[in-house]
Amino acid sequence: MEKLQQLPRLSFPLTPTPIEELRRLRDALPGAPPLFVKRDDAIPLGFGGNKIRKLHVVAAQALAAGADTLVTTGGVQSNHARATAAVAAKLGLGCVLIANGVPQEKPTANALLDRLLGADVRYVGSRDERAPEMEAAAGDLRRQGRRPFVIPLGASTAHGAAAYALAIEEILPDGVPDTIVVATSSGGTLAGIVAGCAMHGIAPRVIGISADDPAAAIAATVRRILADLEDLLGRPRGAFSELPIEVDDTFVGDGYGIPTPASIEATELCARREALLLDPTYTAKAMAGLIARVRRREKTGTILFWHTGGQVGLFA
Ligand SMILES: *Cc1c(COP(=O)(O)O)cnc(C)c1O
Repeated sequence: MEKLQQLPRLSFPLTPTPIEELRRLRDALPGAPPLFVKRDDAIPLGFGGNKIRKLHVVAAQALAAGADTLVTTGGVQSNHARATAAVAAKLGLGCVLIANGVPQEKPTANALLDRLLGADVRYVGSRDERAPEMEAAAGDLRRQGRRPFVIPLGASTAHGAAAYALAIEEILPDGVPDTIVVATSSGGTLAGIVAGCAMHGIAPRVIGISADDPAAAIAATVRRILADLEDLLGRPRGAFSELPIEVDDTFVGDGYGIPTPASIEATELCARREALLLDPTYTAKAMAGLIARVRRREKTGTILFWHTGGQVGLFA
């Protein structure tokens, strides 16, 4: 716990984020338990979201390493890429983004913000080209005498997860929920929440709702990140990586970023009942998973929906 608290963080505060009760959403779902939302979408830098929270620790790690440029990757509409561009701008660092996909003629949403924030965006044709292209970009920068810091996809490293382990402190004053529901993809957020609950001595059921990959693949990634977090915090092997990991991949539908009838319903319900804006790729599907559990009368007890941001995606 001490090692966790001593990890360098950026000097300006971005958190805690609010926790709100969703009374009108509960009223729309007969038999629903008390529902709460943790508003990481409301983090006040670069439109917020879970990537900004992770970067609060990961960018501090980059500064400690003497970096002058952040290099990362994602899809053309990556929230993580936009968050990295925002943090780089705020810190006065350079930012190179390796985006896989086709450049838009008129960039929208995250791609528009990447440009506005001054990032150097380079396009590759496929996901497989991302990691080698990041290394190539970092090599070029080094030859120019610059000091690049490569941030892996989604900032889902031990440091990124540590940011979410630290965030558990923020939910304690409101009472521990019985169940936490959160969107998951590159695994760092889920890993951090699971480890953070264990470190704070609380044991809510934590359900990660997949935005893309099969449950077993994400669970394996989460375990790898948890093992790295054990190393970072000097904990024995298994302290985090043997905790139960629950991933539900039944709300993906036809694929990453493709809406489903349930995700569309969840988005409209949250907007009209709570003015809570979900993103189409992650949080709409996670909320669809929450609503389905309520309707099935699953014995969840009180639920905390951890909003991970991404609302910029509504404008893609
Ligand atoms: C990246 C992202 C997620 C997934 O978080 P991981 O830590 O990558 O699993 C969830 N929601 C939003 C809005 C995201 O941008």
